[in-house]
Amino acid sequence: MTLFQKIIDKEIPAKIIYEDDLSLVFEDINPQAPTHLLIIPRKPIVKISDVLEEDKELMGHLIWVAGEVARKIGVEDAFRLVVNNGAKAGQSVFHVHVHLLSGRPFLWPPG
Ligand code: 5GP
Repeated sequence: MTLFQKIIDKEIPAKIIYEDDLSLVFEDINPQAPTHLLIIPRKPIVKISDVLEEDKELMGHLIWVAGEVARKIGVEDAFRLVVNNGAKAGQSVFHVHVHLLSGRPFLWPPG
């Protein structure tokens, strides 16, 4: 079981910003920007490359949630979404999550 499953199950605490029947949004414990949220599905999908055709709507839901939460906290004009897929790409928790970062300038291309 991953750390994020424990957050979903409320076994370990997190600063939850939003939740619905499909997803959960909470603050990252080690923020890389003034706003750093993690958007996760309740379904324990390991990584993007494991997403099934039947999960397409769920993954779209996560993107909708990102925009909705960004509007609610007033960062809708400037934020970045990041998904790391696989350890070599920086993934450290193996439950799919979208990082929502905002509140500072961002470089392009990303590091
Ligand atoms: P990844 O490296 O897999 O893309 O992102 C995992 C993120 O989870 C990291 O940004 C890390 O700071 C965050 N994280 C790790 N452990 C915890 C925790 O216990 N609580 C919260 N809220 N975030 C965590």
